[in-house]
Amino acid sequence: MASRGVARMDAPPTVIGLPVVLIVVGTRPECIKLVPLIRALRERGSLRPLVVNSGQHREGVREVMASFGIRADIELEALPPLASLRAASDRLRERLRAVIDAAAPARVVVQGDTLTAYAGARAAADAGCRVVHVEAGLRTDSVKDPFPEEWFRRRIARLAELHCAPSASAVDNLLREGVDPARVHRTGNTAIDCLRELVGTWADGDTAAPGTRNTVVVTLHRRENWGGNADVICDALLEIAARRPALRFTFPVHPNPRVAPRIRERLEGKRGFDLVAPMAYDAFVRAAAAAALIVSDSGGVQEEAPHLGTPVLVPRTNTERPEALATGFVRLVVADREHLVAAALTALAAPRRPPLPFDDAAPFGAGDAGRRIAELLEADVAAESHRVSERRHDSAAPPASPARAAVGP
Ligand code: UDP
Repeated sequence: MASRGVARMDAPPTVIGLPVVLIVVGTRPECIKLVPLIRALRERGSLRPLVVNSGQHREGVREVMASFGIRADIELEALPPLASLRAASDRLRERLRAVIDAAAPARVVVQGDTLTAYAGARAAADAGCRVVHVEAGLRTDSVKDPFPEEWFRRRIARLAELHCAPSASAVDNLLREGVDPARVHRTGNTAIDCLRELVGTWADGDTAAPGTRNTVVVTLHRRENWGGNADVICDALLEIAARRPALRFTFPVHPNPRVAPRIRERLEGKRGFDLVAPMAYDAFVRAAAAAALIVSDSGGVQEEAPHLGTPVLVPRTNTERPEALATGFVRLVVADREHLVAAALTALAAPRRPPLPFDDAAPFGAGDAGRRIAELLEADVAAESHRVSERRHDSAAPPASPARAAVGP
């Protein structure tokens, strides 16, 4: 193993006989969404998941993994702040390439649309290793929006050989881009696996008694909301707080230095506002379920909130999850103070609807995506070994007899 950038490596993969699947994780949401696959692969036991923490948000990944009882096999050094996205991508790509060269995995799995997912896919392609894309095919109608997520996921699609699409529209998007239909599978989103499991542990009526919902959960982290939009959204929240003084706002502030100071400057110490560090997954989901309203530019939250029965206002101009809008729980609202305030007051006044059940009709799957993806991986790796052994068999076979070779034109 090249030691450059590698902080910890627990078990050299070569000592274990199973084909290795390298699972690349760089941020908290990737971690949440890859845990179901890691668990399914471990339970099934025919492939060996080797988990690498890329160092993009090293501590966040550590925390979330620990909360699920998982520890990365390989931990890269924390990614230092770099001057540009390009520089950060190059650095991660180089480090992940060293891991791939050492681990010689049968497949490299990347999730979603992060810098880590993109760098992991590039590194795998550089090394001639097959890429599996989890949460493939999400698209908005603009390559630059949201940036860089949309750009990353489109690039990853060109590098992947197996595309695990979370929804029907994601499948359609990939087919429209000319991806071989045999390589596209609708698996559902692994985020729903985690959510279903967690909600299943709650006693009925555990989240909030009727009439007692007085919280709004807020998250903001997308690049489009880093600048002036963050100010506008914070001002809208302050106005909502002034007009509904009984409300409390729980706001886990994303650690990104481009977002956090701006939000803290505007909202810290304001009446009704609790600015907190990113919350543990189970605490966040519980808060989201108990809330009267969520205001969030998160992708994952758009998938989760309908299953919690909580309405979400998404301060963005578009979404890669049209099915979330179709549930009626999720609404896009331009980052404009008046619009946001009006939409929030309307949502707060509306009667609460029952949560979307976890079943096969649910837009992002029934909560069994981890198992489905593990099965696909097994079949894919097995089919490849079969092809390789057939080729070996063919090349070892005796040459065709002269009589047969002479047959034909
Ligand atoms: N989440 C969490 N703690 C928080 C905020 C969000 O565990 O304080 C979870 C949330 O339930 C969802 C995921 O993190 O599963 C979404 O993460 P984020 O909004 O950062 O990213 P996105 O989904 O937009 O990639």
